[in-house]
Amino acid sequence: MADSSNRDLILADLEGGFSEEGIRHRKRASYRRSLSWSVAIWAAGTLRRLADALLAAVLTLVLSPVLLGLLIAATLSGGGIRELPRLGRWATHFGQYQFYFPPSSSLRWLSCFRGLPSILNVLRGEMSFIGPRAAAPHETFADGRMAWKRYNLRPGLLSLWWLRKRANIAYSSEVGLDLEYIETNSLWGDLGIAARAVPAVFFGGEGSAAPPKLNFLGVSIDNLTMVEASARIVGMAANNDSPAQISFVNADCVNIAFADPQYKTVLSHSRLVLADGIGIRVAGAILNQNVRENINGTDMLPFLCASAEQAGTSIYLLGGRSGVPEGAADWMTQHYPGLKIAGCRQGYFSNEEEPSVVEAIRSSGADILLVALGAPRQEKWIAAHKDQLGAKVLIGVGGLLDFYSGRIPRAPVWIRELGMEWVYRFWQEPRRMWRRYFVGNGIFLYRVLGERLHARSSGHTGGVAS
Ligand code: UDP
Repeated sequence: MADSSNRDLILADLEGGFSEEGIRHRKRASYRRSLSWSVAIWAAGTLRRLADALLAAVLTLVLSPVLLGLLIAATLSGGGIRELPRLGRWATHFGQYQFYFPPSSSLRWLSCFRGLPSILNVLRGEMSFIGPRAAAPHETFADGRMAWKRYNLRPGLLSLWWLRKRANIAYSSEVGLDLEYIETNSLWGDLGIAARAVPAVFFGGEGSAAPPKLNFLGVSIDNLTMVEASARIVGMAANNDSPAQISFVNADCVNIAFADPQYKTVLSHSRLVLADGIGIRVAGAILNQNVRENINGTDMLPFLCASAEQAGTSIYLLGGRSGVPEGAADWMTQHYPGLKIAGCRQGYFSNEEEPSVVEAIRSSGADILLVALGAPRQEKWIAAHKDQLGAKVLIGVGGLLDFYSGRIPRAPVWIRELGMEWVYRFWQEPRRMWRRYFVGNGIFLYRVLGERLHARSSGHTGGVAS
């Protein structure tokens, strides 16, 4: 029936009550709509499956000599192929194939290829190249709607979770990332994951065996994850120890510390020094020191606010231009309504005004102080005043307040996944950033490579300590 007659029937119904014919007509239209949706979903699923099967068949054929060679190598070294228990489509159980090389084997470096046999899982229709994370059978999903959507899809060899893990981007939970993938699932989204997977494979980290402390050019860094670092900070804010200074270091900071002994000393006296940015990751790869997670203040703030809200800990914001700390405080209280903001103060003050700034913070009774004056000034300022400020935890946070106040937009997450946030920052403020990124990063790399060569010639093979 044409749309106009449908409209006429509805109008007639509205005027004269619901007629049998009108109800029958709308039921039929609703069945037709559900049927066409089901056909569209089925067709999209079938196309995806066909593409997966075709690519898996070609890859299996092309890679068969490599697969065979790896299988022989794994078997000869006392390992072989193993099946990891996984939940597949419609929550069916299957084994995800992986090569296994025993840790004692001299061939264990081949473990980087251990995931290759999973192509066979794609060929068998148990997995997809791109999809939600392959979950273990004990994982259950409290949210039934999500479970339904999740198990409607085959788990992926590549997933948003894998990507964020490789790119070292902090995420709140694995299930949260699954949900993000499912809610935004599209062909373009999948192609985006495939494109971002290429640099992640070459430059990303495994997140395995990592030393508790890193040492780059004489700067010692605590090798923590975001969750660990925020828990430690909130723990420090809750006890009555002496004030704890927390510092973030990126490649630029290591360069500054190289030439500024006072800053280097302040870093060495910080209770925690946290690894920030792609430069530190690259240094970790070159110096054979696995950096567990990129922990910058900007990514940490939501974790910190959530824990502080729960613990009833108050936060003071110092730094940025006029209106910037207030804007960041608005964001924080909007997202964490129970969070106590002890006070705000812009960061452009003279030496004469300094005592009044210190007094304002002290009398606010803040437990945590975020200082955004730029590195190394903020770290030196904290070190000089920490005993007079009354706060238990004092953190140098650089441009964080600018991001959360909305003064400077943060790079979209896909740019951060590519490890390219610095390119975005350069594009925003080329005049200020060119020296830091193009000259500074070059100098940093040069020094790191020098340290690597020095370590080699003096016989170190693993992490380089100075
Ligand atoms: N800033 C300040 N007072 C000053 C100098 C800088 O409050 O005397 C602020 C500036 O407005 C910005 C932050 O310090 O909000 C430093 O940002 P930058 O991007 O330099 O920090 P980074 O993260 O690069 O260390």
